Amino acid sequence: EPALVPPEQHGLRREDISPAAAKTCAVLQDAGHKAFVVGGAVRDLLAGLPPKDYDVATSATPEQVRALFRRSRIIGRRFRIVHVMSGRETIEVSTFRALHEEGATPTDEHGRVLADNVFGSQAEDATRRDFTVNALYYDPRSGTIVDYHHGVADLRQKTLRMIGDPRTRYREDPVRMLRAVRLGAKLGLSIDPAARTPIREMAPLLENVPPARLFDETLKLLMSGYAVKCLQQLREEGLHHGLLPLLDVILEQPLGERFVWLALENTDNRVQQDKRISPGFLFATLLWHEVLAAWEARKADGAPSQPALFDAMDQVLDVQAKKLAITRKIAGDIKEIWALQPRFEKRSGHAPYRLIEQPRYRAAWDFLRLRAQAGEIDMALPDWWEAFAGGGPERREQLVSEAP
Ligand code: ATP
Ligand code: MG
Repeated sequence: EPALVPPEQHGLRREDISPAAAKTCAVLQDAGHKAFVVGGAVRDLLAGLPPKDYDVATSATPEQVRALFRRSRIIGRRFRIVHVMSGRETIEVSTFRALHEEGATPTDEHGRVLADNVFGSQAEDATRRDFTVNALYYDPRSGTIVDYHHGVADLRQKTLRMIGDPRTRYREDPVRMLRAVRLGAKLGLSIDPAARTPIREMAPLLENVPPARLFDETLKLLMSGYAVKCLQQLREEGLHHGLLPLLDVILEQPLGERFVWLALENTDNRVQQDKRISPGFLFATLLWHEVLAAWEARKADGAPSQPALFDAMDQVLDVQAKKLAITRKIAGDIKEIWALQPRFEKRSGHAPYRLIEQPRYRAAWDFLRLRAQAGEIDMALPDWWEAFAGGGPERREQLVSEAP
């Protein structure tokens, strides 16, 4: 039997929930269905963090949901969910899912669940979720939280506890190991020993996860606002060696270790201040020292600077893009940031005026400053550009005439 936790006991206030999510639940409930805000949003609000997005769980089928909202569409093939658009928000609505039955559910030879698409009861839906703090169902109308697995108490005690047997749950989906580390870091929860201990030995199962999914999870981790904390934790759990190509690049950088950690701190600060960060910028930093090394090697062979840089960029991206599943679009963004770097050295004539008009100037300048902070170049260079970009016509002329 689930615990029904009333508002005065959990402290989550109705005003904290996005009106769009509350409205979506109300429409579903008025049509006779069960509907709750669930998952990360409830967890984050209880922990005092702003939710990234809202998920709603319902007894209605995707077709029934679709029929109730004019601005909605069914997405996903394997497991269909409905996106309900409300104002500028999109609420993800999914139908209660059943547990996979042993023997009846297709798995790979390691026990990884390959399909997960049978509708079920609310209790089953709760039990198939990963951590107790992720299985809380908030009813915006009554203000009650339906808590099947003591998630409210675990959150209060700052514990991340797996629902069910951790080893079985990691076998079903190894990505849960990464989620444990990420959510623990983000929420300041310690991973319950039963869930923490098996990670070291089960980490190799991550090799069987499709690269695109690993890439998504790693990106989530790096852009969580707690990347530094997550990576330290991953290192402690023995979760990087050879398992996550992207993390190998970061954690086993012989060349640019200081630069990479500075970049991650910088990313964390930006995320926490609600500033935009792009995956392109992040990858540009992670791979920069490989590019620098390849660039230097080519120049040492006598190649002119600019073509040498372009060759070096292509070489590094050829190797890494495949391994890391970097998309074409992101690769394009990375190259733009790199390609603008040598142009900061030309401070005479019209060149500076043209450079600041580049659409990617701002990202490229942020990158330049990071290089200076890491000690690769003199801070005078980004300072000069900041003054130039922010100055009026006379100041700019003066800066150009004084530039070395
Ligand atoms: P965040 O949105 O902050 O990344 P989240 O917990 O909301 O964290 P989502 O990927 O949005 O993560 O998933 C929503 C919910 O779906 C989770 O809270 C959890 O209940 C469930 N869930 C997600 N991934 C898994 C998984 N691998 N195994 C079991 N349940 C999962
Ligand atoms: Mg979420």
